[in-house]
Amino acid sequence: MTSMWMSGIARSAQRNGGSMAGGPPRAVWHITWDALDKHGRLPAFDNVASYLRNVGYCPHLMWDPWSGRIVQFYGAEESARALEHPPGGVETNRMGSRCIQVEAWFSPGCVVNGKTYATLADTPCKGLEDIVAWMRTLGIPDVWPSGRPQWSGNSRSAATWRGKAGHYGHCHVPGNSHGDPGPMPSGMFAGGWQEAMMGKLPTLGKGDTGEHVESVQGLLLARSHPEVHVNGHFDDVTETAVKAVQKWGGVAADGIVGPDTWPVLLRVK
Ligand SMILES: [Zn+2]
Repeated sequence: MTSMWMSGIARSAQRNGGSMAGGPPRAVWHITWDALDKHGRLPAFDNVASYLRNVGYCPHLMWDPWSGRIVQFYGAEESARALEHPPGGVETNRMGSRCIQVEAWFSPGCVVNGKTYATLADTPCKGLEDIVAWMRTLGIPDVWPSGRPQWSGNSRSAATWRGKAGHYGHCHVPGNSHGDPGPMPSGMFAGGWQEAMMGKLPTLGKGDTGEHVESVQGLLLARSHPEVHVNGHFDDVTETAVKAVQKWGGVAADGIVGPDTWPVLLRVK
């Protein structure tokens, strides 16, 4: 099982935006924000997806928050192309060990099945829990380092963007002018996800390699262990950082990431 592509969804691989620059893993949320027709309807999902492919501005995921339908354009280890990157500015699409971009198929005021929706948070957000759960396995913690996105008043702090793992809106990315996605659901990090995930996560220790080790390393970076490198090798540095986090979390400091330690790593202070 690979965790670089979400399981059970359509794939439409595209040319990526270059190799990742490294650093804390993050997600960036967008809305497609297309013009509505005279009935307030969004352009068809597939037409918007085709447009993004044609202009080369794809995110990792395009998501229909009413049906839960998702199309994935890039693996998690690749950079997407939905952010501007002005010359001389900080990295945007390539920032982090992961920079997972999601475009919600949404425009403010759209009419779907006779109902008008002002914000993405007002939609059913079907499938959002699955997307966030997948992001956790990539080491992206449940936190908005620059605050929850709003229509105005968002911070585009370059220092925060460079240094902090977690979730951002397009409205938080330096060098970009777009103000999307607007308000996201306040409960998007709630739910019984820890229990649901425990059965899917392996027990890891020194000498292990692979994508789940990268997730552990991303979570350690998010927990203020900058000495850890996201290299997929459970090395001495990783083990020492795991023990420190275990002590902090009040579980046995044995350096093994198992059912007791994953919840500590995934919990955000
Ligand atoms: Zn955007």
